Order: sequence, then structure tokens, then C-alpha cells
Amino acid sequence: MRVDIREIQAKSVLTPSSLPGAEYVVNPYVGCTFGCKYCFAAFIGRWKHPGEEWGSFLDIKTNAPEILLKDLKRLSKKLGAKNFGTILFSSVTDPYLGQETKYKITQQCLQVLVNFNYEGKVAVLTKSPLVTRDINLFQKLNSSVGLTLTTLDDKIVQFLEGNAPPASARLNALQKLNSAGVETYVFVGPLLPYFTDRFDQLDKLFNKIEATGTKEIWLEHINLSPKIKERLFNYLQKEAPELTPKFQEADTHEYRDKLEATVKKALRNTNLNLAMGSIIFHGKVKP
Ligand code: SF4
Repeated sequence: MRVDIREIQAKSVLTPSSLPGAEYVVNPYVGCTFGCKYCFAAFIGRWKHPGEEWGSFLDIKTNAPEILLKDLKRLSKKLGAKNFGTILFSSVTDPYLGQETKYKITQQCLQVLVNFNYEGKVAVLTKSPLVTRDINLFQKLNSSVGLTLTTLDDKIVQFLEGNAPPASARLNALQKLNSAGVETYVFVGPLLPYFTDRFDQLDKLFNKIEATGTKEIWLEHINLSPKIKERLFNYLQKEAPELTPKFQEADTHEYRDKLEATVKKALRNTNLNLAMGSIIFHGKVKP
């Protein structure tokens, strides 16, 4: 897919967040060229880039490092501290897209936090092994670096996560981060209906994660809000219509209750620590 890249000037970069485990988020880019089919952030395209397909555009916030420093100075003056809680990179883009190799916006923002001596946690969440480039910066911060891993099967990655790097590359990145002494976690989100919801699938995935040396895991139920559903189900209907009812079924209490019991059973075979003590669920409760 052709990607339309634009350089833009951001007005503010450090945004308050209501996400679990993050007080602020930094999104160095607008859009995400990985283009996952279940992406909850795709709604951004509708108002920033109406008519453009999610994954086909990317705005580069070239002044993000400079604005981040201004935001940090303003907040630390207001709060009288250099710790405002956890700052997450990122919530509606991936901070280590291929374009980060050229533009280095995430890297420069992390350097700003190092130079500022930010004392709070700096969390990163990505699907890309490019994250290992910045190990030296993570070692200087109070950091926690997460890789998203929804399956071990690269065919499923290609099917649902578009241009995102293969699962094996993410596992290797985790291993590298752990060997360098960086605190890590894995985000299994969303738990994929049909592909990652049986005991044997979860057991294999959790064991692979544990073998990298990672100790913490975050789990999330699939969010099937109307906006996500529209895009995802259109895709499924076109590419694999037999999967639509299986994903539809995941939008029920019964499915989530059963999945939670299966997940807990599979986790008992490992020493992984389940963050928040349960599976995160952002969707609207539907009977
Ligand atoms: S990597 Fe994250 S932000 Fe990017 S498309 Fe996938 S789910 Fe959305």
C-alpha cells in the first residue's frame, strides 16, 4: 500500500491519558503504517484524514521533541516535581514504525526525557524490533518496554496485523531487551477470537513469552465497538467470511467469562505475572 507521508508541527505532545497504567501518552506520529485490522485507533483517520484508509497515511510530528520539552517544563513547574506518573509511547500509533528509522522522533523524545532527568516511569509499547536500537536510552530511564504479541503464527500476523513485523522478530527483540537488563512486558491484545483463545494456543504463547525472560504480561479482550467492528468485519467478510461468526461470538459475556477461565488455567503453567490482575476490557458491555 502506498503511504502518504507529511511533516507536521504539533501544538502539544504530552497528552493526559485514561488508559490503565498510563497517566500521559506521547504519540510521535499521526496514523500507523502497520494498519492492523482490529486497530481501535483507526477512528483517528476519520477526522484527521477523512476518506483515507488507515495505514495509508502518516503525519510526522517533526517538532515533537521540542514541544515535549516545553510540556515537561510547564508540568514540572506546576506540580513541583519531575514525576507525573507513567508516560506511555504510544496510544494511537506505534512509536517504532519503519519511518522511525529515518525520522527518529521517538528516539529524540526519549533523549529529551533522559536530559530532563524524568523520574517517573517511561513505558513503551510496540510491535517492532526497531525498539532495540534505543536500549541505551531505556537503560538511562525508569523504563518498561513492551512488545505486543497476539499470536506466534506469522500467517495470522500478516492476515490481521498488515505490515507489522513477524512474531518471531518480536520475541527476539524481547530476548535482547531482557539480556540488556531492560524491564519488559508483553501485551497480548487483543486476544484473538479463534486464533488465540484455546488452551493449547494460549499455553504455547505464554510459554514462549516466558522463555524470553519477560515476567509481566498484559491481556486484553478484543474491543468490538461499532467503529472497530465496521472496519474489521468488512475485511473478514471479504477475505475469510467463515471467521465473521467466530469474531461476532467474542462480543458476549459468555465468551469473555470462558476465555478468562482458560487464560487463568494457562497462566498457572507459567510464572508470568498478570498485570492489573485480570484481562482488560474496553468494549461496551453487551449481553
Ligand atoms: S500497531 Fe497498534 S496503533 Fe498501529 S495499527 Fe496496529 S493496533 Fe493500531
